[in-house]
Amino acid sequence: MNAGRDDENGGTVMGGSVLQATDGDLFIDGRAVSGGRRVEVRDPGRTADVVATVAEGGPEHVRLAVEAADRARRGWAATPLDRRLAVLLAAVTAVEQRVDRLAVLLSRENGGTRIESTMDLSRGAALFRDFLRRAPGVLDERVVDNDQHRLTVARRPVGVAGLIVPWNSPVVLTISKLAPALIAGNTVVVKPSLLAPVVIGQVLRSIGELLPDGVVNVVHGGAAVGGALVAHPRVRKVSFTGSVAVGQQIMAAAAGNVARISLELGGNDPAVVLDDVDLDAAAPLLARGIYTRAGQVCFAVKRVYVPRSRHDQVVEAIRAVVDGFRVGHGLDGETTFGPLITAAARERVEGLVRRAGAAGGTVHQLGRPTAAVDWDGGNFMLPRLVTGLGQDAELVAVEQFGPVVPVIAYDDVDQAVAMANDSEFGLCSSVWSADTGRAFEVAGRLEAGGTFINSHNVSSLSFDMPFGGVKHSGLGRERTDLGLLEYVEEHAIRLAH
Ligand code: NAD
Repeated sequence: MNAGRDDENGGTVMGGSVLQATDGDLFIDGRAVSGGRRVEVRDPGRTADVVATVAEGGPEHVRLAVEAADRARRGWAATPLDRRLAVLLAAVTAVEQRVDRLAVLLSRENGGTRIESTMDLSRGAALFRDFLRRAPGVLDERVVDNDQHRLTVARRPVGVAGLIVPWNSPVVLTISKLAPALIAGNTVVVKPSLLAPVVIGQVLRSIGELLPDGVVNVVHGGAAVGGALVAHPRVRKVSFTGSVAVGQQIMAAAAGNVARISLELGGNDPAVVLDDVDLDAAAPLLARGIYTRAGQVCFAVKRVYVPRSRHDQVVEAIRAVVDGFRVGHGLDGETTFGPLITAAARERVEGLVRRAGAAGGTVHQLGRPTAAVDWDGGNFMLPRLVTGLGQDAELVAVEQFGPVVPVIAYDDVDQAVAMANDSEFGLCSSVWSADTGRAFEVAGRLEAGGTFINSHNVSSLSFDMPFGGVKHSGLGRERTDLGLLEYVEEHAIRLAH
């Protein structure tokens, strides 16, 4: 484990020097494995800086990792639940003690602000604790013993779970899968994104080192590694968070083994603003819901519907807030939001903005760079609002995943609901109104896995709220008791009297 070197690297990014690399290995069967070629992880806010190199695995590493997980699964499943919970609690506690240092490293690999990175780590740990708390009530065997029969229903682990995760909030998104999988007695092979593999690789390794060999395995890599993992016949459960396009490929590949799947995919979340909205309260929260992490959040606000009668007021209120935003390196204290993850991602979003302007939209560029930022040295974009687009505009229809949002006028609430639902996506949504009864009524008509009232950001989530999407936004739910049930099979045994 190279924790010492990570710690040394932790706090020096704003000095401007090229940073010493931090190595990340594969972790298979309780051991570090150096893998094939090493891949550079670059700071998206200072792309000349190599934050770390990680070992890129291949299909052979996937095979070794799955075989290790398969060897470990019976022993882990047979470990009494209270023992599993105790050792996992110790593992979470170890992660919690490193949150501050890991947060700095995370900001350097995925560009988030220090607050965003700290939240990813600390919420990940808190979510793990929530699953530990819930587990006994959910996983205990149920027994029905009456004059008809003696029936027992056991909730058994599925087996080896393949967990494939993205780069934007790698810790909490991995723990949403890892915690219920391990608690329920499964063993895992995790494939992080090559764009942000370092911190989650270290978190997983620190957890894995406290567990029996083979219970937690990590193989870094891209589509070839992910594809090999999904296709392996011993992988009985695949849980994926990422884009719809890759989710569709995974669903098709998992069919070959009838593997159980959970998919947390993209979103195009609508915010439906009603005519009685309290703009003083709403505008800062809406702005946060749109631009946190430069809009690179699966359930960021990606479309804003406003009553025509208040359109200009709403736009002005959001503009006033966003104009105060400062874009810079995630570790610069002045920064409101950081860079896009890659130059290609920025180019894609800039293309959407250009075409929205060409299609008749009015593009409002807002905010400013921070004083210290090296603008050309990172993948930065200033925040934009686009007005004057119709429902059929490209920027309204696609998931932009960047710091730009269309504001669309509507004439009555039925039309707003119809436009909000007019999408293949259905992750989250929100309704904004001073009348919460009315807001609940409109919320109930939206097609989504979750709907927030008068907020729509990471802080709007609760551990009591199942998380997941409808339509192309996914299959299954994470968090809550439902999240645990994604990693069990029911085994019923019945003796008829
Ligand atoms: P992505 O789909 O490109 O990659 C996600 C993961 O899949 C990465 O680890 C990647 O290496 C791997 N992968 C890529 N091709 C693969 C293949 N053919 N087989 C197996 N694995 C493969 O997504 P991304 O760019 O990392 O993340 C952004 C997307 O993820 C956005 O659409 C966003 O909305 C979505 N997302 C959804 C949630 C959610 O909870 N619903 C959360 C975060 C991000």
